[in-house]
Amino acid sequence: MAQVTEDQVLTALRTVTDSERGADIVSLGMIAGLTIQDGAVTVAIEVDPRRAAQAEPIRHAAESAVKRLDGIEAVTAVLTAHRPPPNRNAPQVHDHGGHGHGGPPPRVRPSLSGIHAVVAVASGKGGVGKSTTAINLALALVGQGLRVGLLDADVYGPSLPRLLGITEKPQADGERLAPIMRYGLATMSIGFLVAEDTPMIWRGPMVQSALQQMLFDVAWGPLDVLVVDMPPGTGDAQLTMAQQVPLAGAVIVSTPQDLALLDARKGLNMFRRVDVPVLGIIENMSYFTCPHCGGRSDIFNHGGARREAERLGVDFLGEIPLDMAIRETSDQGCPIVVSAPESEHARAFRTIAAAIWQRVATQTANPPPRIVVD
Ligand code: ADP
Repeated sequence: MAQVTEDQVLTALRTVTDSERGADIVSLGMIAGLTIQDGAVTVAIEVDPRRAAQAEPIRHAAESAVKRLDGIEAVTAVLTAHRPPPNRNAPQVHDHGGHGHGGPPPRVRPSLSGIHAVVAVASGKGGVGKSTTAINLALALVGQGLRVGLLDADVYGPSLPRLLGITEKPQADGERLAPIMRYGLATMSIGFLVAEDTPMIWRGPMVQSALQQMLFDVAWGPLDVLVVDMPPGTGDAQLTMAQQVPLAGAVIVSTPQDLALLDARKGLNMFRRVDVPVLGIIENMSYFTCPHCGGRSDIFNHGGARREAERLGVDFLGEIPLDMAIRETSDQGCPIVVSAPESEHARAFRTIAAAIWQRVATQTANPPPRIVVD
């Protein structure tokens, strides 16, 4: 089936009227963003924040209008607040060299100055669903009308190309590399540059320079959030990375098993050691939902992460079930937040993403606009 075009989507959106302003939402210039990817459409509709509560029918009508088109698999319409000019007080990022006291002032790295907040998604060990969580959270933030990037810092086992079905190579943008865009998300991974079956043997300094290049030599553009999918574990490489990346905060993904929680605690301590605020813990594979009956069973020691978070004085951000749909959509390169935006799981990711954004958005004196979502 031919992919739906932007013109078709805009024509459908012209049937949606803002009755208060007496014209259709396209003519009124309210379409702030539109992405179409393999039948999944995301529309950002800009509204005056004072009218956010009344604008829900417009959002709903927009979704329904686009859904009626042939070849549409999923539609997400979100309301965004008016975006003021770029935030000149956005945090400046310093060179990774010259940390010594009393030396020359650190060189400002202008390439990251347009990024409001860098948030790490980390885990104490591999296989807990860190990458799956990072990608769905990043896409949920896109769905909230934010400008979002996702950096796959797991140079030993990059999973972003597979999780987003990306096979193309990034192109040069002047002296830098342009990120690859998917579902409105700007992405970069070492896996875009090296074939999947190429064994990668990295030594410490190489890892650091690869990470530096992906941070500073990529034309990320102005972003509200850059999500960094950290390599699993809490060894030296991860510690250095936590120090090198100018992080606004970190979230830790854990499974309910005690062993994983022990690892999660190590992750927590690692960020505390380098003074990076831990925004909270997410419990992934929290409980099992049966693909046949939809019934729920707590096959693991459900709730362990919540208890542990309380004990450690860290926020508990939410839980994601173990569900075939999450695994299958990941394997197909179409994460659940975009492939099944109406699902309970996508909602769970959106709620957690909103909680994370709330924490980082209020961290600076001059935060970017609050985004209004359903
Ligand atoms: P990590 O980054 O921690 O190594 P991944 O995100 O690569 O973990 O996930 C490991 C495997 O578990 C993948 O096959 C992924 O699809 C699957 N997975 C992750 N989270 C879930 C979940 N909530 N339900 C079902 N499968 C999941």
